[in-house]
Amino acid sequence: MIKQLEVVRREHLKEKPDMATLGFGTVFTDYMLSMDYNPEQGWHNAVILPYQNIELSPAAQVLHYGQAVFEGMKAYRTGDEVRLFRPEENFRRMNQSNARLNMPEVDIDFMVDTLKQLVTLEKDWIPTGEGQSLYIRPFVIATEAYLGVRAATHYKLLIILSPVGAYYGSDHLLATKIYVEDEYVRAVRGGVGFAKVAGNYAASLMAQTRATELGYDQVLWLDGVEQRYVEEVGSMNIFFVIDGTVVTPELNGSILPGITRKSILELAQHLGYPVEERRISIDDVFEASQAGTLQEIFGSGTAAVIAPVGSVKYKDQELVVNNGQAGLVTLDLYNHYTGIQNGTEKDPFGWCVK
Ligand code: PMP
Repeated sequence: MIKQLEVVRREHLKEKPDMATLGFGTVFTDYMLSMDYNPEQGWHNAVILPYQNIELSPAAQVLHYGQAVFEGMKAYRTGDEVRLFRPEENFRRMNQSNARLNMPEVDIDFMVDTLKQLVTLEKDWIPTGEGQSLYIRPFVIATEAYLGVRAATHYKLLIILSPVGAYYGSDHLLATKIYVEDEYVRAVRGGVGFAKVAGNYAASLMAQTRATELGYDQVLWLDGVEQRYVEEVGSMNIFFVIDGTVVTPELNGSILPGITRKSILELAQHLGYPVEERRISIDDVFEASQAGTLQEIFGSGTAAVIAPVGSVKYKDQELVVNNGQAGLVTLDLYNHYTGIQNGTEKDPFGWCVK
């Protein structure tokens, strides 16, 4: 296991973008982390180096059989203080994804330490406006040049950084319109839904494109067996407020265990809301709406943090939630959650790592 991290400085730093008009994931910082794996040395050659293109053989296995996993997390800054949000959780999940795709696991402590060094070096790239942060994208790909179908022997891990604004622009708490996908599924039991593997996102694109064409913002995914139970919304986990209780689908192998999901469950309990992790069918959601007990729906994920849902379209029915507005529980959770992340509120859970 590597213990050392080399840093290769660049001669000229890039010009910083206008931080006021940041979108999502279009601008990259001066440096990145790179690390290689082979069976003889394990993970080695850890280096922070100038952000640059990488060279790959056209036969690299990732390009053919899709051994690729990624993570997404954020760094926040107030003045000189930089905070990461539960970074060890992301590397733990990366290891679960790696294991599922037969890829080598990483040393979580080493990765968190390395990330701290990288983010410290790049702290001037962390925007401090409302809803802004430095998005961190660690990923691992199979680099071995070989066309046989088996687990690769050689891999590369990279971490790239991108200053970002609010995921849905300045209207980040504007409620989204959701289309329930009843033909395609995102993931199946026994498959790779619980892992953050690149192929899951490729498989989701067609439904997302169709939903966009039909005028909806996001796809609501149903389970891959009966196409009855709610799983996720777009690339977020989903929450319902039903009769005062905060409800989210229980983890079942095809749902991605979101770090925001886990944190919101802990935060909601801390704030005194009853919470439930259970199976919830799309029929249950429409019945609760008809009975008047469906109060709020929101999605949760690192990119958007919390995204209120204003309407849900399923086959020929459409329900409106809370008059198409973000609800009180959604806003309460959003305010406490982002307050903890950006340091304006006490962090009773010890989630932030300086
Ligand atoms: N579900 C899917 C499919 C996702 O891609 C993400 C984003 N990582 C999430 C849920 C939310 O996970 P997290 O809260 O860890 O960002």
